Amino acid sequence: MHAIGHYINGGQVVGTGRRADVFNPATGEVQAQVSLASKAEMDKAIADAAAAQPAWGATNPQKRARVLMEFVRLLNRDMNKLAEALSREHGKTLPDACGDVQRGLEVVEFCIGAPHLLKGEFTDSAGPGIDMYSMRQPLGVVAGITPFNFPAMIPMWKMAPALACGNAFILKPSERDPSVPMMLAELLSEAGLPDGLLQVVNGDKEAVDAILDNETVQAVGFVGSTPIAEYIYSRGCANGKRVQCFGGAKNHMIVMPDADMDQAADALIGAGYGAAGERCMAISVAVPVGEDTADRLIEKLVPRIEKLKVGPYTGGADVDYGPVVTAAAKERIGSLVQSGIDQGAELVVDGRDFNLQGYEDGFFVGPHLFDRVTTEMDIYKQEIFGPVLCTVRAKTYDEALSMAMDHEYGNGTAIFTRDGDAARDFASRINIGMVGINVPIPVPLAYHTFGGWKKSGFGDLNQHGPDSFRFYTRTKTVTARWPSGLKEGGEFHFKAMD
Ligand code: NAD
Repeated sequence: MHAIGHYINGGQVVGTGRRADVFNPATGEVQAQVSLASKAEMDKAIADAAAAQPAWGATNPQKRARVLMEFVRLLNRDMNKLAEALSREHGKTLPDACGDVQRGLEVVEFCIGAPHLLKGEFTDSAGPGIDMYSMRQPLGVVAGITPFNFPAMIPMWKMAPALACGNAFILKPSERDPSVPMMLAELLSEAGLPDGLLQVVNGDKEAVDAILDNETVQAVGFVGSTPIAEYIYSRGCANGKRVQCFGGAKNHMIVMPDADMDQAADALIGAGYGAAGERCMAISVAVPVGEDTADRLIEKLVPRIEKLKVGPYTGGADVDYGPVVTAAAKERIGSLVQSGIDQGAELVVDGRDFNLQGYEDGFFVGPHLFDRVTTEMDIYKQEIFGPVLCTVRAKTYDEALSMAMDHEYGNGTAIFTRDGDAARDFASRINIGMVGINVPIPVPLAYHTFGGWKKSGFGDLNQHGPDSFRFYTRTKTVTARWPSGLKEGGEFHFKAMD
């Protein structure tokens, strides 16, 4: 059995204690076992990182950026290898796995701008003979706790800015697909990152709690489900850390009567069923405005859904999506689908009997489409995180807008329309962090920032973009006066600048 340990002080180490199974979701087989770090193992990794950090923090930003430049080259060199390892543990198709690596790589590219992004502010002659300037300094040791659904992209969203800013970084990846984060650490060592600055410590709740309770760790970035986000936010903050946590989602796509219905249907297919619906920016609720719009939309969606090809990542270029990540995820999706039927939604496309010959033990879920879902139903309220699209019919634009605004999640949303006025009004009024106008999955590019509102995001500042350089540094402001030959003598009152 292939054993996956940790990556500590520049090399792979074997874990000493508990282990968890890592599955191949396409076959249902256990393909590896990953070590689950104890508190003592995590504390040691953090202490070693703290010892390595001061020299890295004192290295000039341009030299740190050069390590990231080389990392980008190596990521491109190993793209196919990374994608294959990712698909084998996660289940997503190879092109989608390449996208996962690519969207992480783009954040590394952004972080190569560290020398510019870390420049402080300077005021010449803030007072007589006085200059004032600010600098951004690394925090020390910081940590990231990441989910299974983007095992390359989200670790890179966190490690690249943290390291570019001069910190040491502890990564606690998802225990369901730990191989790619280990490969990323190897590539960073090959790129010239000194040992101890990126510690990949695999584990579960025990490892996470060890991070949250360790006094050396100054900041924690988390991405995952909302209940865990809330837990990590409150425990991390109570321990005096800087914490940002990004949680679950229920993204609505409003389809106005004037929308191009073919374009809207195509967008919903990709955004609703891509990666088996296991994306925090997936569209899981379609909200057509008006009965006629709803009928036309459903009519366009059904044949497209029936054509979807579900299969393993090895199944060829025409596979649209793969299995979900675990048997437990498959079971949870099944029971939510049943609750939708029991609560009166209309199951227009029924994926329950989906079976893939030769892969009977894989965690495949056929595509489902619900119509006439209401806002009281569990399938509307909960994040399903599977290939299940719910349609909620709205009578008016205002009803559709309120529906999205009243949902507890606020990660992403989209409106499909030809009406610029409706689109502007929507973008301005909606209480959701990322908005698409005729774009179903509005994931901001690396140089903008990514983050949801309401129960989808806790804490200040977003991921990547300029916010990430603020999150991983603290500002120090210096007021300097160099005495001239003429001394003014002592001052006893608090001086205001004049
Ligand atoms: P998860 O919450 O189960 O796990 C996330 C991380 O938390 C993992 O590293 C896991 O080991 C750890 N963890 C799990 N249970 C824990 C516990 N009890 N105590 C401490 N740590 C614990 O999430 P997941 O299933 O890996 O990922 C899917 C979820 O992530 C979905 O809800 C999805 O919407 C969300 N997500 C959000 C974003 C975003 O940016 N908002 C991005 C991707 C995924």
